[in-house]
Amino acid sequence: MKSQDIASRWLDFFAKKDHSVVPSASLVSPDPSLLFTIAGMVPFIPYFLGQETPPYQRATTVQKCIRTADIEEVGKTVRHGTFFQMCGNFSFGDYFKEKAIPYAWELLTTPQDQGGFGLDPERLWVTVYEEDDEAERIWREKVGFPAERIQRLGKEDNYWHTGQPGPGGPDSEIFYDRGPEYGREGGPSADENRYMEIWNLVFMQYQLSEVNSQTDFTVTGELDHKNIDTGLGLERLAMILQGVENMYETDQVRPVLDRAAALAGKEYSSTEDATDPRYTDDVRLRMIADHIRSALMLITDGVVPGNEGGGYVLRRLIRRAVRAMRLMGVTDPVLPELLPVSRDAMKGTYPEVERDFDRIARIAYNEEKAFLRTIAAGTARMDSAVTAAKSAAHASAGEGATAGISGADAFELHDTYGFPIDLTLEMAEEAGVAVDQAGFRELMTEQRNRARQDAKSKKSGHVDSSAYRQLQAEGDTVFTGYTEHTTEARI
Ligand code: ATP
Ligand code: MG
Ligand code: MG
Ligand code: MG
Repeated sequence: MKSQDIASRWLDFFAKKDHSVVPSASLVSPDPSLLFTIAGMVPFIPYFLGQETPPYQRATTVQKCIRTADIEEVGKTVRHGTFFQMCGNFSFGDYFKEKAIPYAWELLTTPQDQGGFGLDPERLWVTVYEEDDEAERIWREKVGFPAERIQRLGKEDNYWHTGQPGPGGPDSEIFYDRGPEYGREGGPSADENRYMEIWNLVFMQYQLSEVNSQTDFTVTGELDHKNIDTGLGLERLAMILQGVENMYETDQVRPVLDRAAALAGKEYSSTEDATDPRYTDDVRLRMIADHIRSALMLITDGVVPGNEGGGYVLRRLIRRAVRAMRLMGVTDPVLPELLPVSRDAMKGTYPEVERDFDRIARIAYNEEKAFLRTIAAGTARMDSAVTAAKSAAHASAGEGATAGISGADAFELHDTYGFPIDLTLEMAEEAGVAVDQAGFRELMTEQRNRARQDAKSKKSGHVDSSAYRQLQAEGDTVFTGYTEHTTEARI
């Protein structure tokens, strides 16, 4: 089943259960506390918080999402993309657990020729919050789900809240057993690679106060209007239904991977085994396919590369993809080769990627050109910093000290050559040396203070604050609102 067909089957199923079909919101978050839309529920936050009255009591969507917090997982796990689509069904004070759980079961296990996804029920596992007897009872009695494949977990795993006083509640997650060849037995609590999470059902049930952390909060009472918020990863289901090894091999992503492999003259081998010599290039190819698609979708939604916020995320995605291609020996521009392939894979669901492609391509190709110029200018300086770091490490090896690229070198790379610190960090890591980040930040702060001082003494309101903004982009902590606090910084 193609990704596009999964999306329409999802929407049809919930439309038949009286849900309003709502189009995906933009990747640029409609909620001001978030940079990007990180989950299907984000466009509905005002309804969940009781700030606005929803025009419907039930809704269903296939929402475009970006999760920069997952960037380091991309290509290494089988299931994390920076861009993905979250299928959701939502109840605003209407049905609750007694319907949400059976709906999920019906859709997943009804045979494909009868409108469902036809998953093998024997492969499914479920988790519930350890105190949520009601959810467990519904799974066992209404669904007839076997008790031995239900696991009860704590607040760390099965509780949702926003991190602020307000609504919260337990959740129940559905997992797919990929099979014994993928890891240890024992259910999702034993091995999250073998037992892949596919669907999260959140039961917004309580009013919370004194929310100090994921696990430390006070329940003050039941909500008058209880809500349902669910999210299923479309790519994860596609990977199961298409019989492929990971989400990067599904129909909307794989063509880019293949094109990248052909350009680099590499044979892609699907390995998940980090000790396999082919693993490094496999991870690169998966990461490239993911990042190219994310860049395409972000530019489509109006993001342009820049030094802060969403623009910086986009810049970083493009740079990581370009650098991964270079590490496989491709030094010519790659976006003109890869972006059109991603467009063709995505245009069935998102015709705007084709309609608007001239603009999208211009932005992306210019960004790559600028980056190639930056690399050309700074690589020699980077190499000498690495050499200096290595010989310093060698000299002090007897004393057991480790040396690295100095704060001053990192600062010069930033200030003179336009290397953002993360690029220096990544290149240093590849070369096997550390970077004195504290020293770098000190110099950045000094520079910022000097700029402020200058501005004051000139009594001018205008300061070149680009360095300051850069630091902010690297250091900001952004509230994700859905499951966790995350540092968007290190993406
Ligand atoms: P995981 O534990 O696998 O990281 P999660 O618990 O962070 O997933 P949720 O926040 O519960 O995920 O999101 C709901 C669903 O969205 C998940 O069950 C999964 O199917 C999908 N999903 C979440 N993050 C990603 C991602 N980075 N790429 C693809 N699908 C994702
Ligand atoms: Mg996650
Ligand atoms: Mg999870
Ligand atoms: Mg989850």
